[in-house]
Amino acid sequence: MAQKWSLPKQILAALIAGILVGTLFYTMGLADFTAAYLKPLGTIFVNLLKFLVVPVVLLSMIEGIVSMGDMKKVGAVGWKTVFYFLCTTAVACTIGLILGNIFSNAGLFPILGNAEGAEWTGKTSQNFMDTLVAIFPDNMWKAFHNADMLQVIVIAILLGGGILSAGEKGKLVEDFVHSAYSVVDRVMLGIIKLSPFAVFAMMIWVVATQGPAILGSLAMVLLCAYIAYAIHAVLIYSMAVKAFSGISPITFFKGAAPAMIFAFTSTSSAATLPVSKECADQLGAQDDISAFVLPLGATINMDGTAIYQCVATIFLANCAGIHLTLQQMVVIVVTATVASIGTAGTPGAGMIMLAMVLTAMGIDVNMIMIIYGIDRLFDMGRTALNVTGDISCSLCVTKWQGGKIIPHE
Ligand code: ASP
Repeated sequence: MAQKWSLPKQILAALIAGILVGTLFYTMGLADFTAAYLKPLGTIFVNLLKFLVVPVVLLSMIEGIVSMGDMKKVGAVGWKTVFYFLCTTAVACTIGLILGNIFSNAGLFPILGNAEGAEWTGKTSQNFMDTLVAIFPDNMWKAFHNADMLQVIVIAILLGGGILSAGEKGKLVEDFVHSAYSVVDRVMLGIIKLSPFAVFAMMIWVVATQGPAILGSLAMVLLCAYIAYAIHAVLIYSMAVKAFSGISPITFFKGAAPAMIFAFTSTSSAATLPVSKECADQLGAQDDISAFVLPLGATINMDGTAIYQCVATIFLANCAGIHLTLQQMVVIVVTATVASIGTAGTPGAGMIMLAMVLTAMGIDVNMIMIIYGIDRLFDMGRTALNVTGDISCSLCVTKWQGGKIIPHE
């Protein structure tokens, strides 16, 4: 009897096997079969994870806040986290813009014609002030019901702060949160054990339905985005974890790999949260800090999404024959940063928020239809990058808070 493989190994094997079988199914023309019978298996798994997203984010954030002991520490960790998020996202946008411009100036972005006849029927995002107002819940249950994660985070911060300031009287609620989180955590771990099957099924479906042909004329913009993702991961995260937390980039990426692979296949940072937590803690992040940083990051820190939005904007401007000025590029950096913060950690959310960036640039939102068909391929890479950024942040903030990074074996 062979020795049992670890979960990351199982996921990697499932990924490779999924690609191989998917390619075979693609050549055999079995795309419809995979859409009918394999995709639903993946959907069941993602649904199971999604149903846990609200309790996990809520309870783990309250738990993180309460275990920090006082609001001063929460404030310190909060500011450092948001600072890290904003800086890395702004850098991500810049990398996306530079790469997009290089491809555009080299004539590598094909002119696909205009989007005439195509109509964007998706939701168009609100303006900045509306987005700000919408963060504050007027009804707690509505926020849970709609899984509005920014509102859930505000609720967690308020309740966590309330428990801390209530002192002894808040003890019962504190114990309840602790106990409830332990239960949810067990459920989560049980579901995660199923992930290799889900990864296998989803990968077969993606490869069999998307196939190499769909890349066709859009290969260049995909390539551009993936080069930018890779540069951001290899340069920025490697430098950040090395400089701020003292971890070697190789150790970091090895430790973060299960979450990256999981995010790549699930295309949801929120669904990847339990795996990210495992990875961050294994790499040596302090438990209360990762419990605070990761759910926050899965909701507002989206470096991959920011890169995608910049590259896609330049690409679509190119298709529309619009030449962007330097000043407009600065506007792209600002709007893509805000748009990525407002992007939910769910599949395809970044494409909806792209509408906000395009509107700010005066580009017809219907142009999104040009890249609509391959969004999933962009989404896989950007989600993997998004969760990597969250894990790196939890390590850096652990160190900035004076903690020791001791990777677990
Ligand atoms: N799928 C991404 C995530 O969950 C969000 C996006 O669509 O950009 O992180």
